[in-house]
Amino acid sequence: MPDQRRTPDWALAELVAGNQRFVDGSSRYGHRIAAALAAATNPRPYAAIVGCMDSRVPVEAVFDQDFGAVCAIRTAGHALDRIAVASVTMAVETLGVALVLVLGHTRCAAIAATLEPRWSDEHDNAATEMIARNIGTMGTVDVRAVTRGHVVATVRTLRGIVASAVAGAVYDVDTGRVEVLPTA
Ligand SMILES: [Zn+2]
Repeated sequence: MPDQRRTPDWALAELVAGNQRFVDGSSRYGHRIAAALAAATNPRPYAAIVGCMDSRVPVEAVFDQDFGAVCAIRTAGHALDRIAVASVTMAVETLGVALVLVLGHTRCAAIAATLEPRWSDEHDNAATEMIARNIGTMGTVDVRAVTRGHVVATVRTLRGIVASAVAGAVYDVDTGRVEVLPTA
């Protein structure tokens, strides 16, 4: 993987191609010990993925990526706290990833909890509080619109923090497909 190929556009195309392999049932990487050992002394992550901790969205699987390829920062509803931001910053500044991808997903329990007033009354949860602040001005409780809006808002927040390119996408747990969102 020569360095001149590690542009943001190249990185996004790699992730989209990996998701297509995953959807097609032709994933290339089986997460074998030999690949883990090969990456042990020479990790070359080209993207950081800021996603949800949801058990259905393991980013290495849905983007068909092997050891050493991507850094995963996963919190409930990809809420950004100080540590998550610090992790993204480390991926960009220290590990040199070319792209940060914010990955929301359908059927997100953190989004659903945020939109449920009674849940918020009964739980003190920093992740849903952060999501509520992010979506507070959207004026909608449509889950699809909120999911996408939360991704776009998170992209904009990170663009104000890190020097790398930042893109946004949504993973559909019912199809396995990732849709890259317009976030310009
Ligand atoms: Zn989620």
